[in-house]
Amino acid sequence: MLEKVLIANRGEIALRVLRACKELGIKTVAVHSTADRDLKHVRLADEAVCIGPPPSAQSYLNVPSIISVAELTNADGIHPGYGFLSENADFAEQVEKSGFTFIGPTAETIRLMGDKVSAKQQMQRTGVPTVPGSEGALPDDPDEVIRIAREIGFPVIVKAAAGGGGRGMRVVHNEEVLLSSIQVTQSEAQAAFGSPVVYMEKFLQRPRHVEIQVLADGQGNAIHLGDRDCSLQRRHQKVIEEAPAPGIDDTLRNEIGEACVQACMDMGYRGAGTFEFLFEDNAFYFIEMNTRVQVEHPVTEMISGVDIVREQLLIAGGAPLSIKQEDVSLTGHSIECRINAEDPRTFMPSPGTIKTFHAPGGHGVRVDSHVYSGYTVPPHYDSLIGKLITYADTREAALVKMRQALDELVVDGIRTNAALHRELVTDSSFMAGGVSIHYLESKLEHER
Ligand code: ADP
Repeated sequence: MLEKVLIANRGEIALRVLRACKELGIKTVAVHSTADRDLKHVRLADEAVCIGPPPSAQSYLNVPSIISVAELTNADGIHPGYGFLSENADFAEQVEKSGFTFIGPTAETIRLMGDKVSAKQQMQRTGVPTVPGSEGALPDDPDEVIRIAREIGFPVIVKAAAGGGGRGMRVVHNEEVLLSSIQVTQSEAQAAFGSPVVYMEKFLQRPRHVEIQVLADGQGNAIHLGDRDCSLQRRHQKVIEEAPAPGIDDTLRNEIGEACVQACMDMGYRGAGTFEFLFEDNAFYFIEMNTRVQVEHPVTEMISGVDIVREQLLIAGGAPLSIKQEDVSLTGHSIECRINAEDPRTFMPSPGTIKTFHAPGGHGVRVDSHVYSGYTVPPHYDSLIGKLITYADTREAALVKMRQALDELVVDGIRTNAALHRELVTDSSFMAGGVSIHYLESKLEHER
């Protein structure tokens, strides 16, 4: 069992990790930038250490500082949260080499899954369905590239092996622009990710984003906790997520879940993880794996009753997985709205001081947020200020609760996207369930 965990993150996820540690009797160390002295988890942690100025590169991404703090405070584990260093294999390696436990998979696994070409190949070996496309990286021979594209069929999407955050991708609609598009993507990939390697796959026209949550202990045990639908996105950023994914039958869900479990076993996966898929015409196509806890993990917690962050901590402490697949029962429906400090129309960030914050509550309402009345949202980081999560027996009832929760929410002093959420939870297509990943952007385009 871990005794003291350093939380290498900020905001709501740092608070989420702190709460799970406290429940397990694990001591906590918060590290923060000079802009984040007033974060809730910094105040609640057993120890707090300032690690640098506001820019992330000098604080939350400052590996030597973070490791020194772990040494100075005698922490034994480091939780990376999401974003920042959470999927940085070199960081995981350094943490382990310095004698601490990285709360996540091994550096090797992070590396394998961080490269989209090797991740896809690993999935193919294991029997997880992937998007039809090139076998690995694209070759140099232009004739061969054209042959591959013809075989896949246009439109195709050219993607950087090292890409992330929705960048390093280009859709190609016809042969005339294929080679030039590949060249542009390669040089962009080299500039942004330090590697020009690209691959190609079929561009799916109206897919949904459906993902599978897994937990594995690295000791031969792995389970899945069903799926989440995260199709409501703007610029590849998820806006609303829900579990289970509407309209997918349990047999198919279990089948894909089992394939993900097998993939975990095959790669000796350790910790929490998410297999992301595009879902079209009732079929799943793997796109990537996130080797960390995700923002939207609460909707799965609500329908499964499993505390995912607690499990991460227990697994990292060396305990075998305490839950068996047959013990997992998914009931009811849960929805999450990401509340961002941003203008609901222009989406420009809206940092500043929150004069009044009032969180909604009641049966089936969960609020994961680090903000409070008087808190100042700094301009340096992402704009997520909290997550409203509702849970009920049915999707309709969870939506009713969400409408009410959004009405109760008060955030005065800064702008938030609550108005957009109020619109979305009464939107007839969203209410019907199963919209594609393009739905939100096309809705916004039509209305504005
Ligand atoms: P990143 O790591 O940058 O998030 P992903 O591989 O997860 O990249 O893809 C991000 C998004 O790009 C997907 O959610 C989807 O909207 C779009 N996308 C990626 N691959 C395809 C594809 N083959 N067909 C259609 N859309 C795709």
